[in-house]
Amino acid sequence: MKVLNKLLAGSCAVLSLGCSSDSLAANDSVVVLQYHHVSDSTPAVTSIDPDTFKEHLNYLKDNNFNVIDIKQAQEAIEGNGQLPEKAVVITFDDGYQNVYENAADLLEQYEMPYTVFVNPDLMAKHQGHYMGWEELKDIGARGARIANHGQTHAHLIRREPDETKEQWVERMHYDVVSAQEAIDENLGEQEKYFAYPYGEYDNELRALLDDWGFLAFAQHSGPWSQWSEETAITRFPASGIYANLDTLKTKLRSKAMPVVSYKPEEPLLDYENTQPTLEVTLTGDEALKEVRTNQLRCFSGGQVLEPEWQSDTRFTVEVTTDLPVGRSRVNCTAPSASESRYYWYSIALIRPDAQGSWPD
Ligand SMILES: [Zn+2]
Repeated sequence: MKVLNKLLAGSCAVLSLGCSSDSLAANDSVVVLQYHHVSDSTPAVTSIDPDTFKEHLNYLKDNNFNVIDIKQAQEAIEGNGQLPEKAVVITFDDGYQNVYENAADLLEQYEMPYTVFVNPDLMAKHQGHYMGWEELKDIGARGARIANHGQTHAHLIRREPDETKEQWVERMHYDVVSAQEAIDENLGEQEKYFAYPYGEYDNELRALLDDWGFLAFAQHSGPWSQWSEETAITRFPASGIYANLDTLKTKLRSKAMPVVSYKPEEPLLDYENTQPTLEVTLTGDEALKEVRTNQLRCFSGGQVLEPEWQSDTRFTVEVTTDLPVGRSRVNCTAPSASESRYYWYSIALIRPDAQGSWPD
Protein backbone atom coordinates (compact mmCIF):
# COMPACT_ATOMS: atom_id res chain seq x y z
CA MET A 1 0.00 0.00 0.00
CA LYS A 2 2.87 2.31 0.82
CA VAL A 3 4.37 1.66 -2.61
CA LEU A 4 1.00 2.14 -4.31
CA ASN A 5 0.53 5.47 -2.57
CA LYS A 6 3.92 6.60 -3.79
CA LEU A 7 3.15 5.46 -7.33
CA LEU A 8 -0.17 7.27 -7.34
CA ALA A 9 1.43 10.40 -5.99
CA GLY A 10 4.13 10.13 -8.64
CA SER A 11 1.67 9.66 -11.50
CA CYS A 12 -0.15 12.74 -10.28
CA ALA A 13 2.90 14.84 -11.04
CA VAL A 14 3.53 13.25 -14.45
CA LEU A 15 -0.03 12.83 -15.74
CA SER A 16 -1.67 16.03 -14.67
CA LEU A 17 -4.84 15.04 -16.56
CA GLY A 18 -5.40 12.07 -14.30
CA CYS A 19 -4.82 14.06 -11.16
CA SER A 20 -7.88 15.55 -9.52
CA SER A 21 -7.62 18.68 -7.43
CA ASP A 22 -8.96 16.59 -4.52
CA SER A 23 -5.86 14.43 -4.42
CA LEU A 24 -3.67 17.50 -4.70
CA ALA A 25 -5.47 19.10 -1.79
CA ALA A 26 -4.98 15.94 0.26
CA ASN A 27 -1.23 16.05 -0.25
CA ASP A 28 -0.26 19.55 0.67
CA SER A 29 0.69 19.07 4.34
CA VAL A 30 3.46 17.22 6.16
CA VAL A 31 3.19 16.39 9.84
CA VAL A 32 6.59 16.79 11.50
CA LEU A 33 6.96 14.89 14.79
CA GLN A 34 9.41 16.12 17.41
CA TYR A 35 10.99 13.70 19.87
CA HIS A 36 13.82 14.11 22.42
CA HIS A 37 14.75 11.15 24.66
CA VAL A 38 13.71 7.59 23.84
CA SER A 39 14.10 6.10 27.30
CA ASP A 40 12.15 5.19 30.42
CA SER A 41 14.72 6.70 32.81
CA THR A 42 15.00 10.31 31.55
CA PRO A 43 12.81 13.36 32.44
CA ALA A 44 9.22 12.43 31.57
CA VAL A 45 8.36 15.75 29.95
CA THR A 46 10.94 15.25 27.17
CA SER A 47 10.82 11.46 26.95
CA ILE A 48 8.98 8.66 25.27
CA ASP A 49 9.62 5.15 26.55
CA PRO A 50 10.95 2.66 23.99
CA ASP A 51 7.75 0.58 23.95
CA THR A 52 5.53 3.59 23.25
CA PHE A 53 7.98 4.77 20.60
CA LYS A 54 7.65 1.38 18.91
CA GLU A 55 3.85 1.74 19.12
CA HIS A 56 4.12 5.07 17.30
CA LEU A 57 6.18 3.54 14.50
CA ASN A 58 3.88 0.54 14.25
CA TYR A 59 0.88 2.85 14.03
CA LEU A 60 2.53 4.81 11.22
CA LYS A 61 3.45 1.61 9.38
CA ASP A 62 0.12 -0.17 9.84
CA ASN A 63 -1.89 2.87 8.76
CA ASN A 64 0.01 3.63 5.58
CA PHE A 65 1.68 6.83 6.67
CA ASN A 66 4.65 7.69 4.50
CA VAL A 67 7.62 8.69 6.63
CA ILE A 68 9.77 10.80 4.32
CA ASP A 69 13.10 12.57 4.50
CA ILE A 70 12.96 16.19 5.61
CA LYS A 71 14.58 17.31 2.35
CA GLN A 72 12.00 15.49 0.25
CA ALA A 73 9.35 17.33 2.27
CA GLN A 74 11.08 20.67 1.78
CA GLU A 75 11.39 20.18 -1.97
CA ALA A 76 7.77 19.17 -2.40
CA ILE A 77 6.54 22.11 -0.31
CA GLU A 78 8.70 24.42 -2.41
CA GLY A 79 6.98 23.03 -5.53
CA ASN A 80 9.64 20.58 -6.71
CA GLY A 81 7.95 17.22 -6.53
CA GLN A 82 4.88 15.77 -4.96
CA LEU A 83 4.20 14.90 -1.37
CA PRO A 84 2.96 11.36 -0.83
CA GLU A 85 -0.36 10.88 0.94
CA LYS A 86 -0.15 10.96 4.74
CA ALA A 87 3.39 12.34 4.75
CA VAL A 88 5.24 12.40 8.08
CA VAL A 89 8.73 13.63 9.00
CA ILE A 90 10.39 12.31 12.18
CA THR A 91 12.80 14.55 14.11
CA PHE A 92 14.77 14.25 17.35
CA ASP A 93 16.18 17.26 19.20
CA ASP A 94 19.43 17.17 21.22
CA GLY A 95 20.91 13.91 19.82
CA TYR A 96 20.77 11.85 22.99
CA GLN A 97 22.69 8.60 23.21
CA ASN A 98 19.41 6.82 24.06
CA VAL A 99 18.16 7.59 20.53
CA TYR A 100 21.16 5.64 19.27
CA GLU A 101 20.44 2.81 21.67
CA ASN A 102 16.64 2.66 21.61
CA ALA A 103 15.43 4.12 18.31
CA ALA A 104 18.03 3.90 15.52
CA ASP A 105 17.78 0.14 14.86
CA LEU A 106 14.00 0.21 14.76
CA LEU A 107 13.88 3.20 12.41
CA GLU A 108 16.38 1.50 10.12
CA GLN A 109 14.43 -1.75 10.19
CA TYR A 110 11.21 0.11 9.31
CA GLU A 111 13.06 2.09 6.60
CA MET A 112 11.91 5.35 8.13
CA PRO A 113 14.27 8.28 7.51
CA TYR A 114 14.67 10.82 10.33
CA THR A 115 16.57 13.95 11.32
CA VAL A 116 18.56 14.53 14.51
CA PHE A 117 19.27 18.12 15.59
CA VAL A 118 22.53 18.20 17.57
CA ASN A 119 24.52 20.61 19.81
CA PRO A 120 28.26 20.19 19.02
CA ASP A 121 29.46 22.13 22.10
CA LEU A 122 27.36 20.01 24.46
CA MET A 123 28.40 16.81 22.68
CA ALA A 124 32.04 17.60 23.42
CA LYS A 125 31.31 18.44 27.07
CA HIS A 126 29.02 15.53 27.92
CA GLN A 127 30.29 12.51 26.05
CA GLY A 128 28.11 9.48 26.59
CA HIS A 129 25.00 11.56 27.30
CA TYR A 130 24.85 12.75 23.71
CA MET A 131 25.79 10.81 20.60
CA GLY A 132 29.32 11.55 19.44
CA TRP A 133 30.47 12.05 15.87
CA GLU A 134 31.08 8.32 15.40
CA GLU A 135 27.51 7.45 16.38
CA LEU A 136 26.19 10.26 14.21
CA LYS A 137 28.23 8.99 11.27
CA ASP A 138 26.86 5.53 11.87
CA ILE A 139 23.19 6.55 11.93
CA GLY A 140 23.89 8.91 9.03
CA ALA A 141 24.82 5.85 6.99
CA ARG A 142 21.60 4.14 8.14
CA GLY A 143 18.90 6.64 7.20
CA ALA A 144 19.42 9.61 9.52
CA ARG A 145 20.13 13.18 8.59
CA ILE A 146 22.13 15.28 11.07
CA ALA A 147 21.17 18.93 11.53
CA ASN A 148 21.84 21.93 13.72
CA HIS A 149 20.39 22.68 17.19
CA GLY A 150 22.99 25.34 18.09
CA GLN A 151 26.33 24.94 19.89
CA THR A 152 25.13 25.48 23.44
CA HIS A 153 21.35 24.98 23.61
CA ALA A 154 21.01 28.51 25.00
CA HIS A 155 17.84 30.60 25.22
CA LEU A 156 19.06 32.41 22.12
CA ILE A 157 16.63 35.32 22.16
CA ARG A 158 17.48 36.33 25.74
CA ARG A 159 19.92 39.20 25.72
CA GLU A 160 22.75 39.13 28.24
CA PRO A 161 23.05 42.11 30.61
CA ASP A 162 24.29 45.16 28.69
CA GLU A 163 24.70 43.14 25.50
CA THR A 164 24.68 45.32 22.38
CA LYS A 165 22.91 44.20 19.22
CA GLU A 166 26.29 43.66 17.60
CA GLN A 167 27.50 41.47 20.45
CA TRP A 168 24.29 39.48 20.35
CA VAL A 169 24.62 38.91 16.58
CA GLU A 170 28.18 37.72 17.14
CA ARG A 171 26.99 35.32 19.83
CA MET A 172 24.24 34.01 17.53
CA HIS A 173 26.81 33.58 14.76
CA TYR A 174 28.88 31.43 17.08
CA ASP A 175 25.90 29.40 18.25
CA VAL A 176 24.39 28.82 14.81
CA VAL A 177 27.05 29.18 12.11
CA SER A 178 29.99 27.64 13.95
CA ALA A 179 27.75 24.71 14.97
CA GLN A 180 27.02 24.14 11.30
CA GLU A 181 30.76 24.32 10.55
CA ALA A 182 31.44 21.68 13.19
CA ILE A 183 28.74 19.43 11.73
CA ASP A 184 30.02 19.87 8.18
CA GLU A 185 33.65 19.29 9.21
CA ASN A 186 32.82 16.05 10.94
CA LEU A 187 30.13 14.64 8.68
CA GLY A 188 30.61 16.34 5.33
CA GLU A 189 28.45 19.22 4.19
CA GLN A 190 24.88 18.89 5.47
CA GLU A 191 21.67 20.71 4.58
CA LYS A 192 21.17 23.90 6.58
CA TYR A 193 18.31 22.99 8.91
CA PHE A 194 18.16 24.55 12.36
CA ALA A 195 15.89 23.68 15.29
CA TYR A 196 15.50 26.50 17.81
CA PRO A 197 16.47 25.38 21.34
CA TYR A 198 13.21 25.36 23.40
CA GLY A 199 11.44 26.38 20.18
CA GLU A 200 12.20 30.01 21.07
CA TYR A 201 12.66 32.68 18.41
CA ASP A 202 11.96 36.32 17.85
CA ASN A 203 11.89 38.25 14.60
CA GLU A 204 15.52 39.38 14.90
CA LEU A 205 16.72 35.80 15.25
CA ARG A 206 14.52 34.69 12.37
CA ALA A 207 16.03 37.39 10.16
CA LEU A 208 19.56 36.18 10.98
CA LEU A 209 18.71 32.58 10.17
CA ASP A 210 17.17 33.70 6.93
CA ASP A 211 20.34 35.69 6.07
CA TRP A 212 22.49 32.68 6.89
CA GLY A 213 20.42 30.44 4.61
CA PHE A 214 18.71 28.17 7.14
CA LEU A 215 15.29 26.60 7.27
CA ALA A 216 14.34 26.79 10.93
CA PHE A 217 12.05 24.54 12.95
CA ALA A 218 10.07 25.57 16.02
CA GLN A 219 8.03 23.69 18.63
CA HIS A 220 4.54 25.02 18.27
CA SER A 221 2.16 22.69 16.50
CA GLY A 222 0.66 22.34 13.06
CA PRO A 223 1.57 20.67 9.78
CA TRP A 224 4.28 22.04 7.47
CA SER A 225 2.93 23.33 4.16
CA GLN A 226 3.17 26.08 1.60
CA TRP A 227 1.51 28.29 4.24
CA SER A 228 4.39 27.83 6.69
CA GLU A 229 7.13 30.38 7.27
CA GLU A 230 10.60 29.11 6.41
CA THR A 231 12.09 30.28 9.70
CA ALA A 232 9.20 29.18 11.92
CA ILE A 233 8.24 25.72 10.65
CA THR A 234 5.86 24.01 13.03
CA ARG A 235 6.25 20.54 14.52
CA PHE A 236 4.05 18.40 16.75
CA PRO A 237 5.78 17.50 20.05
CA ALA A 238 5.46 13.72 20.56
CA SER A 239 7.17 13.32 23.97
CA GLY A 240 5.80 13.49 27.50
CA ILE A 241 2.02 13.96 27.58
CA TYR A 242 2.07 14.36 23.80
CA ALA A 243 3.28 10.77 23.34
CA ASN A 244 -0.33 9.61 23.88
CA LEU A 245 -1.18 7.85 20.64
CA ASP A 246 -4.90 8.64 20.83
CA THR A 247 -4.33 12.39 20.69
CA LEU A 248 -1.45 12.01 18.27
CA LYS A 249 -3.74 10.25 15.76
CA THR A 250 -5.79 13.43 15.24
CA LYS A 251 -2.60 15.44 14.73
CA LEU A 252 -1.19 12.93 12.25
CA ARG A 253 -4.30 13.41 10.12
CA SER A 254 -4.32 17.20 10.44
CA LYS A 255 -3.87 19.65 7.59
CA ALA A 256 -2.27 23.08 7.58
CA MET A 257 -4.70 25.97 8.01
CA PRO A 258 -4.23 28.29 5.00
CA VAL A 259 -3.02 31.31 7.00
CA VAL A 260 -1.53 34.25 5.10
CA SER A 261 -0.80 36.57 8.05
CA TYR A 262 -1.20 36.88 11.81
CA LYS A 263 -0.69 39.27 14.70
CA PRO A 264 1.18 39.74 16.91
CA GLU A 265 3.95 39.15 14.40
CA GLU A 266 6.53 39.27 17.19
CA PRO A 267 6.23 36.21 19.47
CA LEU A 268 8.19 37.85 22.29
CA LEU A 269 5.55 39.91 24.08
CA ASP A 270 6.00 42.95 26.28
CA TYR A 271 5.92 42.08 29.96
CA GLU A 272 2.64 43.94 30.49
CA ASN A 273 0.91 42.26 27.55
CA THR A 274 -0.62 39.39 29.53
CA GLN A 275 -3.84 38.98 27.52
CA PRO A 276 -2.97 39.60 23.88
CA THR A 277 -5.55 39.71 21.11
CA LEU A 278 -4.57 37.62 18.13
CA GLU A 279 -5.59 38.35 14.56
CA VAL A 280 -5.39 35.71 11.85
CA THR A 281 -6.03 36.18 8.14
CA LEU A 282 -6.79 33.15 6.00
CA THR A 283 -6.41 32.91 2.25
CA GLY A 284 -9.37 34.03 0.18
CA ASP A 285 -8.72 31.43 -2.52
CA GLU A 286 -10.05 27.91 -3.21
CA ALA A 287 -8.19 26.40 -0.24
CA LEU A 288 -10.53 28.17 2.19
CA LYS A 289 -13.61 26.33 0.87
CA GLU A 290 -12.40 23.14 2.52
CA VAL A 291 -12.17 24.79 5.95
CA ARG A 292 -15.36 24.86 8.04
CA THR A 293 -14.64 28.32 9.37
CA ASN A 294 -17.96 28.48 11.24
CA GLN A 295 -16.65 25.67 13.47
CA LEU A 296 -13.21 27.17 14.02
CA ARG A 297 -12.17 27.21 17.69
CA CYS A 298 -9.00 28.28 19.46
CA PHE A 299 -7.45 26.90 22.63
CA SER A 300 -5.17 28.53 25.17
CA GLY A 301 -4.04 26.84 28.38
CA GLY A 302 -7.08 24.53 28.51
CA GLN A 303 -9.56 27.31 27.68
CA VAL A 304 -11.70 27.39 24.57
CA LEU A 305 -11.65 30.77 22.83
CA GLU A 306 -14.40 31.74 20.40
CA PRO A 307 -13.13 33.61 17.35
CA GLU A 308 -14.73 36.86 16.27
CA TRP A 309 -14.94 37.02 12.51
CA GLN A 310 -14.04 40.47 11.21
CA SER A 311 -14.55 39.44 7.56
CA ASP A 312 -14.91 36.18 5.58
CA THR A 313 -11.20 35.54 5.93
CA ARG A 314 -10.06 37.36 9.08
CA PHE A 315 -10.76 36.58 12.72
CA THR A 316 -9.60 37.85 16.07
CA VAL A 317 -9.25 35.90 19.28
CA GLU A 318 -8.92 37.43 22.70
CA VAL A 319 -6.87 35.61 25.32
CA THR A 320 -9.08 36.05 28.39
CA THR A 321 -6.83 34.88 31.23
CA ASP A 322 -3.27 36.01 31.90
CA LEU A 323 -0.67 34.06 29.97
CA PRO A 324 1.89 32.53 32.32
CA VAL A 325 5.46 33.82 32.23
CA GLY A 326 7.29 31.76 29.60
CA ARG A 327 6.23 29.99 26.42
CA SER A 328 2.57 29.70 25.43
CA ARG A 329 0.76 28.51 22.36
CA VAL A 330 -2.67 29.42 21.10
CA ASN A 331 -3.91 26.63 18.84
CA CYS A 332 -6.80 26.97 16.43
CA THR A 333 -8.55 24.11 14.65
CA ALA A 334 -11.44 23.77 12.21
CA PRO A 335 -12.94 20.64 10.65
CA SER A 336 -12.44 19.85 6.99
CA ALA A 337 -15.59 20.15 4.88
CA SER A 338 -15.04 16.88 3.01
CA GLU A 339 -12.91 14.64 5.23
CA SER A 340 -12.87 13.63 8.88
CA ARG A 341 -9.77 15.61 9.72
CA TYR A 342 -8.90 19.00 11.15
CA TYR A 343 -7.13 22.07 9.89
CA TRP A 344 -4.61 23.14 12.49
CA TYR A 345 -2.81 26.39 13.27
CA SER A 346 -0.73 27.55 16.21
CA ILE A 347 0.72 30.87 17.31
CA ALA A 348 3.79 30.81 19.56
CA LEU A 349 4.04 33.47 22.26
CA ILE A 350 6.61 34.17 24.95
CA ARG A 351 5.79 36.34 27.93
CA PRO A 352 8.94 37.48 29.78
CA ASP A 353 9.04 38.50 33.43
CA ALA A 354 9.91 42.06 34.45
CA GLN A 355 13.62 41.22 34.08
CA GLY A 356 13.13 39.89 30.52
CA SER A 357 13.57 36.27 31.55
CA TRP A 358 11.40 33.13 31.92
CA PRO A 359 11.79 29.58 33.20
CA ASP A 360 13.23 26.74 31.08
ZN1 LIG B 1 16.63 20.84 22.51
